[in-house]
Amino acid sequence: MRNTQRCKDQRLERGGVSQQRSERSTHPPPRRKTMRLITLAALLVTVHCRDTFKGHQVLQIIPKDEAQLAFLKELEDVFELELDFWRRVTAVSCPVHVRVPFQILQFLKPLMESKDIRYFTMIDDLQAVLDEAQKEMELAASAPKPMNTDSFNYSRYHTLSEIYSFQDMLVSENPNLISKLVIGQSYKGRPLNVLKFSTGGTNRRAIWIDTGIHAREWITQASGIWFAKKIVTDYGRDPILTDILNGMDIFLEIVINPDGYEYTHSTNRLWRKNRKPDPTSDCVGVDLNRNWDAGFEGPGASSDPCSQTYHGPRAHSESEVKSIVDFVKSHGNIKAFISIHSYSQLLLYPYGYTRKPAKDQNELYNLAKKAVTDLTSLYGTYYRYGSIINTIYQSSGGSIDWTYEQGIKYSYTFELRDSGRHGFLLPSDQIVPTSLETWLALTAIMDRTLKNPY
Ligand SMILES: [Zn+2]
Repeated sequence: MRNTQRCKDQRLERGGVSQQRSERSTHPPPRRKTMRLITLAALLVTVHCRDTFKGHQVLQIIPKDEAQLAFLKELEDVFELELDFWRRVTAVSCPVHVRVPFQILQFLKPLMESKDIRYFTMIDDLQAVLDEAQKEMELAASAPKPMNTDSFNYSRYHTLSEIYSFQDMLVSENPNLISKLVIGQSYKGRPLNVLKFSTGGTNRRAIWIDTGIHAREWITQASGIWFAKKIVTDYGRDPILTDILNGMDIFLEIVINPDGYEYTHSTNRLWRKNRKPDPTSDCVGVDLNRNWDAGFEGPGASSDPCSQTYHGPRAHSESEVKSIVDFVKSHGNIKAFISIHSYSQLLLYPYGYTRKPAKDQNELYNLAKKAVTDLTSLYGTYYRYGSIINTIYQSSGGSIDWTYEQGIKYSYTFELRDSGRHGFLLPSDQIVPTSLETWLALTAIMDRTLKNPY
């Protein structure tokens, strides 16, 4: 993305110096005449550059026939337009969500009208929504830091350093139940932390849950935090979770993509990929959910480093992916692998890269149905479910296709709330309800994994 930028001063948060400096180094140097002022100001504040989305709108477009669909598909590949597809083009009558920069709106809207393509404005003033959310973050940041995980605020979004602190607090409060594994480092050297929930045994059958592979899907990291607390709260109290943990271990990686997540806080709230520069272009980042060795480089992933779905130079090239691959292989006893995304309200299973049905298709379908029924029972949230390729679109190099081909039968992907009103900018008052309903579905999958050993 090459958005215009505006700079604004922001008080330095404790512990954020090195990360903010390293992110700042990716921007062009400030003009010489302002350098001295900035250097002086840096004693008290850091200059914090955020991409601005002033005038951008998010449109919902519904193609009504093949010609309109083909037109939208063409738009998807014109990177010069800097369109950001929040919901990709799939089929006739299926809504497409796209963020459109101000200048492009001026010709895109009349063009679509001339082609009789129906659209409506999903988010009218994107920057206003972002400013509002930023204000909320800043207000919350001024509150006293939580001393323990009981006083942690689960109803708001947190920075990377806050999530790291949360993990350490939770581990120190529950040393007999949780340990923190560092399975690798991100491109920028940040730790890739995995929480291991275990009541004993050696190399027990295990469940893997991850959130935050795509940086901007903030509801997922926030839910991951809530799940971690939920596990320790329910163990010994809730009979189903207690049985699960007495028979199996749970591994939870809350921030798969820490560099991307940090960048969504410091610079660009809508960043998706990791932050590894591409040596052949000005573009940055690999889509970590196109980098797995399952149909790698196939349809539904891009070979263009500037694309949002760039698959990377080779399968498992990204340390954030390779760390999980090595972990899963060396563990050897993971029986369910659940990767959590947002948004669209879907529960999906393999395959994404091929139309070939998974050999466990019937069981995966029936378990998805049960999980979704449980999820919907709480607030009536509507979910669709099925294989990735049949439910959304063909996508290659995804994590759960790889884990499924490694023999992990219960491989699932969630797309959490919502279905299109707020998209990636889900209001923080939906974090706890989203986590609560999702937990019901997760429990269904974990319970089945416990009771159907294979
Ligand atoms: Zn995602």
